[in-house]
Amino acid sequence: MVIAIDGPAGAGKSTVARAVATALGYTYLDTGAMYRCVALASLTSPAPVAELAEQLQIALAERVVLDGTDVTDAIRAPEVSEQASKVAADPAVRRALVRQQQRLLRDGDWVAEGRDVGTVVAPDAALKIFLTADPAERARRRAAQLGADPETVLAEQAVRDERDSARADSPLRPAADAVVLDTTGLALEQVVAQISAQARRVAGSAAGG
Ligand code: C5P
Repeated sequence: MVIAIDGPAGAGKSTVARAVATALGYTYLDTGAMYRCVALASLTSPAPVAELAEQLQIALAERVVLDGTDVTDAIRAPEVSEQASKVAADPAVRRALVRQQQRLLRDGDWVAEGRDVGTVVAPDAALKIFLTADPAERARRRAAQLGADPETVLAEQAVRDERDSARADSPLRPAADAVVLDTTGLALEQVVAQISAQARRVAGSAAGG
């Protein structure tokens, strides 16, 4: 079974998706980390980004390993965030990564997080959540995580949000059948509890219980 959690940066997706995966004993898939790996590689490689997306060996678990190198921290640098939203607008990059994501999601139980999981990667997901939050609150959360200046994060976030929402291929938007959850002012534990409860209901009815 797949639970899709999509939404803009800083809405709490990673924290919530990881916690829901742990609560249910599902595997967590961070699709954004894959775009970030392609972005990181493209900052130093002259190869076309589509080629990088096809050829890079990306291993996602506790740590993110790119062609044998641990890039868990490197892919979170602000310049990689910026570059990720640029490479993610390339349809050939998306095709290559979506293919890999769909291969992973074919077997087992997953909580997959991203921008297009409910719309493109796993349109048949058993449960689709679209997390949003007020932009200033999202920036504040991100800034706290990164130890960065909230105003700077807010400005960079606005650029990325606009690029993610305006791109022609798989723009950021909720699937028609997604549950939209505004996390502004909510403790993330409340959000996790709410989604885990919904997921258990869905899993229960899928199992005929
Ligand atoms: O989620 P995260 O901030 O790590 O994603 C980095 C960038 O990758 C996003 O800004 C977005 O442009 C892109 N992305 C995407 N589709 C996904 C996941 C991430 O386009 N499923």
